[in-house]
Order: sequence, then structure tokens, then C-alpha cells
Amino acid sequence: MSRLVVVSNRVAGARPAKSGSEGGLAVAVRAALRERGGIWFGWSGKVLARDYDVPNVAEVGRITYATVDLTQRDYDEYYKGFANSTLWPLFHYRLDLTEFAHRTWAGYQRVNSLFAHRLHPLLRDTDVIWVHDYHFALFAERLRSAGCKQKMGFFLHIPWPALQVFTALPMHRDIVKALCAFDLIGFQTKEDLSCFQDYIRREAGGEVGRNGTIKAFGRVLRAGTFPIGIDTEDFAKMAAESGESKQVHRLKQSLQARDLIIGVDRLDYSKGLINRVEAFEQLLTSYPENRGKVVFLQINPPSRSDVADYIEIRRDLEATAGRVNGTFAEYDWVPIRYLNKSFSRRVLAGFFRSSRVGLVTPLRDGMNLVAKEFVAAQSSKDPGVLVLSRFAGAARELDGALVVNPYDVEGVAERLQEALTMPLKARRERWRSMYRAIVENDVTAWRENFLLALQRGSRVH
Ligand code: UDP
Repeated sequence: MSRLVVVSNRVAGARPAKSGSEGGLAVAVRAALRERGGIWFGWSGKVLARDYDVPNVAEVGRITYATVDLTQRDYDEYYKGFANSTLWPLFHYRLDLTEFAHRTWAGYQRVNSLFAHRLHPLLRDTDVIWVHDYHFALFAERLRSAGCKQKMGFFLHIPWPALQVFTALPMHRDIVKALCAFDLIGFQTKEDLSCFQDYIRREAGGEVGRNGTIKAFGRVLRAGTFPIGIDTEDFAKMAAESGESKQVHRLKQSLQARDLIIGVDRLDYSKGLINRVEAFEQLLTSYPENRGKVVFLQINPPSRSDVADYIEIRRDLEATAGRVNGTFAEYDWVPIRYLNKSFSRRVLAGFFRSSRVGLVTPLRDGMNLVAKEFVAAQSSKDPGVLVLSRFAGAARELDGALVVNPYDVEGVAERLQEALTMPLKARRERWRSMYRAIVENDVTAWRENFLLALQRGSRVH
């Protein structure tokens, strides 16, 4: 079996963190690398004053962890700049927040070239290279121009936007041309794929074949959908064992038999957090019987807190949650518990299982793993209900969720009430079909499907 080389912006630590704190993707990537041997390559997470010619390398068993530090300028232009202030907002349909600057685009190109250049000497001719996400769209093109002929695949974890949104990016053509240097491009959903195909046909003058083939920019490649999964059975097991957890015990005690609605998201403007709090406020207004009886626990670990739009969303959210609590709280009940910190996945699994409703309402999301984790964590005997935005990739698979439009605050409040009052039989039926779907397409199936398609050319959808 050929060696696998995984390229992603962040590389998990050479020593796996303690069980339950590492994400499903990291676990799956590590398992694939362990099986086949290979390299995990990316940014070290460190910003240093100067740039070194060789990556930091650590070997553990059959896996080589190779990381490169960024200079302050690279961090500002490539990571904070083009990746997180241009591509991220644009791909999440936030043209209003998208920064357009030639300087950061130059930084993005420079870091893609630099990283490709650093990886090149570590590669063997027979390696299979799998690049992840929007940070490294130019990676294959840079490796090809250095003479690399290996099979190269790219998986986009975030949405691919509609043609009219994507073409607002002045360098749209350079990005798609560079992507066409890969042999396989994977998207989360059919919508993402069809937006990309649209671009190929209408903007790049290319062709889209019936079996996923793309002909464009003098290259023939394939593009398909590979909805990412979670480590479903492990997560379900962690949730089932959570009864023994101290945190879960404390949470339950503090609820005093009140129903819990839970939301868990990085503090990001794509997650629809303000609308969500407003929907909860609407629930308390339209259905006052929930006052004193329901608690909404919103967990928002801060993220990218050096980007101005993230500082603003935090301020707005704090103000909105504070207003709702100010309006409705009683001396013995606070409706919203807003937590600005992170928890391990093991603790989250227990919190999900203790919740009556999972409230997942992004305005746009590639997949949303939290939605799948909420389903995995439920008890089959007495499962909670998932209220899920139609704009999360997960809504394509989770057909038992109550699907909502997050912009429609009153509509979300109606569905919340439906979730809180749903009879057991309906809850079980809805949960069963969702659980089946996430067991079948778990994160292991996802990576196997992608790698089979990349290496053996198996069918893509
Ligand atoms: N997560 C976590 N601790 C937290 C909040 C989130 O471990 O306090 C994990 C969560 O369990 C999930 C991931 O972070 O696995 C978030 O993935 P998702 O696709 O929902 O959103 P993203 O942050 O990638 O946009």
C-alpha cells in the first residue's frame, strides 16, 4: 500500500491527546497514517520571528509529523488575512465581511509555495497526497510545478459558494485553475459540488462528465461528494458512559429536572448565534409555559479572536444573551447559560445526552459535526430532538431532524416548541433513522471512500 501524506493547516500533536479530547477527524487521519505509514504535514501553530528552511520533524512509529512555523507576516497575510478574512467569510456567503486585498492574496500564494517547497524533499514518487481545506487550495499546483507526479486529492471542509458569490473574488480563476491540478476534489454536499461544476461550465469554459470527470485548464480530474462523518460508535460509547462523569452529574443537579436545550459552536458569525438566542427569546414569549421550566445552555469557545469580526460577534452575542436573561430571569431561574469556553468531547457527549433538544442553526456550514455528535450521544430509549438549520451540510443526511430556516426566528421558535413537546414514539423514530445514517457513513467510511476514489478511481457521486 502506498504511503499517505496528509496536508492540513493544523497538525494534531505527535502524541495523541488523552482519549475524548481529540476530534474525530484527527483520530481518523492518525488511524489511516498508522495503517499505511506516512507524513502529516502542516503549520506548527507557532509564529516565530524568522523562517527556517526545514520543517520540524517528529517520528512516532510509522508516522512522521512534519510542521513548519509561520513568520508574523505570513500569519497576518496568509492565515488571518486571506484564509480567514477572505475565503472563510466569502465561502460562508458573507460578502459583507469579506476583505479584498492584494497583499493578503500575495501572502496566501507565498505560504502555499513555501509549504509545498518544504514538503517536496520528504516525498516519495509512490506517495498519495491528501490536502485538506481552504488554506491550501494552491498546493497541488505548486507541487506539480516542482515536478511532482503523485496522486493528489483535495477535500474542502467548508461550503463551495454559488457562482455569483464566488466570482466576487477577484482571483477566482487562479484558485480554480490551481485546484484543477489535483486529481480528485471532494465536497461535503451535492450543492457544493454543483456550484463548483457550474463554475467549470459557465466561467472556466470546461466540461463536466457524467461520472464526475472535469476537463478544464488542460487537465482531466474528478470531483465528487464525500460528506464527512464522525467516530459515531466511539462517541455513542463515551455518551453512554457519561453517567459517571462529575461534570454531567453537576449539570443534571443544577437543572433540577428542567429540560435542557443545548448549542455548541465555535464563536463564529457563520453559526447563527444571535438568531438562535432570539429564537429562544421568541419561544419564551410565544410559549410562556416554558419559563422557569427550560434552560438553554450555549457553549461557545472563542476562536480567531484576533480578527475584528470575531470580536464584534462576541460583543453582540453577550449583549443579546444578557438582554434575554435580563427580561426573563427569576431569582431561582436563569434562562440562558452562556459559556465562553471549551469542553472536551467526552464531556460534551455527556451534556448532549442530558439534553432534550440540540439546537444547531448555522447560517451556512460545510457539514456541522456537532449535529452528528448530538445524534450519536442520545439514548435509544429516550432520545432528544435535533433542531437543525437547512444550511448545514448535515441536513442532507439527518432526515429525522426538525429542519429550520435560521433566518426565520419565529419559525425556529415554533420548531423548538415542537421539539420540547414531541412524544417519545416520534422522537425514537426520528432518532433511529439518523443514527443509522451516521453509523453507516462514519469518519472511517468517509476517509476510505475518499482514498479509494483517489487511488483506484472508484466511482464518485
Ligand atoms: N468541540 C469541542 N469542544 C468544544 C466545542 C466544540 O471539542 O467546547 C468540537 C465538537 O465536538 C466538534 C468540533 O469541535 O467535533 C466542531 O466541529 P463543527 O463541524 O461542528 O464546527 P467547526 O468548528 O469545524 O466549524
